[in-house]
Amino acid sequence: MGAPQFLSRAAPCAAPPKAALVGVALDLPLDTLFTYRVPAALCARAGPGFRVRVPFRGRPRVGIVAEAPAPPRPGRVLDVLDAPDAEPVLGPDLLELGRFVARYYGASLGEALAAMLPRGVRHRRAGRERVEARATPEGAAAWQAQAEDLADAQRRVLRHLVRAADWLPLGALLQTARVSASPVRTLARRGLVELARRRDVADPLVAATRAPGPPAPPPTPTAEQVRALQRIEAALGAGGYAAFLLLGVTGSGKTEVYLRAIEAARRQGRQALVLVPEIALTPQTVARFAARFERVAVLHSAQGEAERAAAWRCIRAGEVDVVIGPRSAVFAPVPRLGLVVVDEEHETSFKQQNAPRYHARDVALVRARDAGAVVVLGSATPALESWANAQEGRYGLLRLRERVPGRRLPTVQVVDVGAPDEQPGGRSRFSRTLRVRLREALAEGGQAILFQNRRGFATSAACARCGFVLRCTECDLALTYHRSETRALCHLCGHERALPRACPECALPGLALRGAGTQTIEAELASIAPGAVVARMDSDTMTRREAYEEVLGRFGRREVDILVGTQMLAKGLDFPGVTLVGIVSADLSLAQPDLRANERTFQLLAQVAGRAGRGERDGRVVIQTRLPDHPAVRWAAAQDFESFAAEELRERRAHAYPPYARLLRVLVRGASPEAVAARARAVQERAVRHAGTGCQVLGPAPPPVARVQGQWREQILVKAPDHREIARVLAALRAAPRPRARVEESYDVDPYGA
Ligand code: ADP
Ligand code: ZN
Repeated sequence: MGAPQFLSRAAPCAAPPKAALVGVALDLPLDTLFTYRVPAALCARAGPGFRVRVPFRGRPRVGIVAEAPAPPRPGRVLDVLDAPDAEPVLGPDLLELGRFVARYYGASLGEALAAMLPRGVRHRRAGRERVEARATPEGAAAWQAQAEDLADAQRRVLRHLVRAADWLPLGALLQTARVSASPVRTLARRGLVELARRRDVADPLVAATRAPGPPAPPPTPTAEQVRALQRIEAALGAGGYAAFLLLGVTGSGKTEVYLRAIEAARRQGRQALVLVPEIALTPQTVARFAARFERVAVLHSAQGEAERAAAWRCIRAGEVDVVIGPRSAVFAPVPRLGLVVVDEEHETSFKQQNAPRYHARDVALVRARDAGAVVVLGSATPALESWANAQEGRYGLLRLRERVPGRRLPTVQVVDVGAPDEQPGGRSRFSRTLRVRLREALAEGGQAILFQNRRGFATSAACARCGFVLRCTECDLALTYHRSETRALCHLCGHERALPRACPECALPGLALRGAGTQTIEAELASIAPGAVVARMDSDTMTRREAYEEVLGRFGRREVDILVGTQMLAKGLDFPGVTLVGIVSADLSLAQPDLRANERTFQLLAQVAGRAGRGERDGRVVIQTRLPDHPAVRWAAAQDFESFAAEELRERRAHAYPPYARLLRVLVRGASPEAVAARARAVQERAVRHAGTGCQVLGPAPPPVARVQGQWREQILVKAPDHREIARVLAALRAAPRPRARVEESYDVDPYGA
């Protein structure tokens, strides 16, 4: 058969023409491949891993060939419409990884593959434009006047734009304001919002030359760093898979170990992936890598589509030595993977919260094993799963016990806020000790960080007489009062309203405000530290990346004395001027209904405490709590991860909790509580039928927040001795007929927050 002229340069067709059927994975929650016929002219471009455009339910969709040739199938088979690429977008290794993700986490292959590719690659439209929005002066005025004719969603849009006082990418705006595009369009028509199109600049490589000034010479590694490196380099030299847990106290120089390990991989002509928590992906972080390597690429979700796609293509072409990114970077198409670093491996942001609900650290381990690469998981406070793996010899354990020369660990003081001499009257959030230490630090010219893991001013508004609590109309949650916006806000769905002047139930004037957030602390500082410059960092003030950079810049230049914030502050900030870190309430996170509440609290306290004492002067940490003897508090104060882990793991073993068991959470949700309950019961019965001995099926029961955005929720928890049992139950549940319309069912393997 004579090939048409335009195909003569393409690779010869691998499959004989009569077998030119392919199985295509589509980004739908349907657990099946769809069979299409490949026209002869396209057969060189429709092998495994290629993008194809296919007709599906009357309209074209882009999918990925997952099976070629596919077995014949009865019935009418439609033709592939187009195969736009000369090369597959996914090589055999990543296709296989996608199969693993789908299987392990109970997603469809199409969903898994879609999660692996940047949008700009999946739907390549060269030079994509993006739309940005900002409030017009009229819009700002309408917002300030609290114009009556604004719908809730429009109000939210305006609030974000007015606060940003700048252009915001439309995508980011819709996400933070939790609205669809239509209220924005309405506002634009009324002249309250302005829209503009911009082209992304494709500049995928972070050139080392762009770092300001000549790079500082690398420090001489400490003896502990040398020992850790020798083991990593030996593993790289051996050429096969190996995994290490790098347990290093805050400020012990873990990044220096990563940098030198990457250099070793580069010398072998292999690439490195560096996964960092989304919030830690700052220009400072990137600059540390860019100062050492020339060919560094960054992949992250705040990037423009085109920019991200361009970076992805450079990576695939082998033009990059180091890829840095958040969890999705675990799928970056590096041709010769040598090393994967997962920094702050205990961070929950490595777990994706929608399908496929994968954990990037765990996927990294699988990918490295298949590629014969080395993995380094680094943390001062590792996840107990990782710690158990290291204890049981599955990971090599590398320890950095000391901070780098010139830096000592801070002195930590635990203050029992219940003690009478700490609270001399009043309802202050500051104990006597914290006040004294704060004034001391400021008097000595130091800076302070105050940590309160809750935003807003009051976490509830309630009637002092009848007990009425102001709640979200859509969610089963009390509204948080935000003083700077003078509105009560739902932290789940963003619903907001004015504070009623009187109790709607019993008409008693004035609701009582209870519970402290970051705004409360900020407000109280005016009297505790008058004259100090205070900045607040939480998701209310940090709606844009630039705002975050700006506050950190001001803090770094010492234009700000006190930084008040939520857990945003806990990550990798390195400020030599900070001599005091105050944790206003350690008890907030202990009270969470989560089997990992102790672990989370320990991590948070130890990480926040690690922010002090990074400079010449010694640091001090004050932890306020009502539970001074709680193990999470005690061991965090001692910066003693290993003792905490030993104690907590005993508890986990006694209750058969992870890491000594595996969990599957099934969440059923819908607008009708009866339909949700019925489906949840059916799920539970099926799970019980398929669960082996040693498994437990718990529920159905409503999760801590039973209703979110008008959707009722019930969950079923399957607890099993190992993943094989979980996989069996998961397969059985997924094989069941889909739920009735308007009830949704989702699966979360190795869930968080259970
Ligand atoms: P970690 O990630 O363990 O908290 P970092 O890697 O951020 O610690 O290191 C803290 C600081 O110490 C950085 O400024 C780094 O440049 C510096 N540093 C790292 N290793 C050394 C060393 N061997 N000697 C001196 N300074 C070092
Ligand atoms: Zn709500």
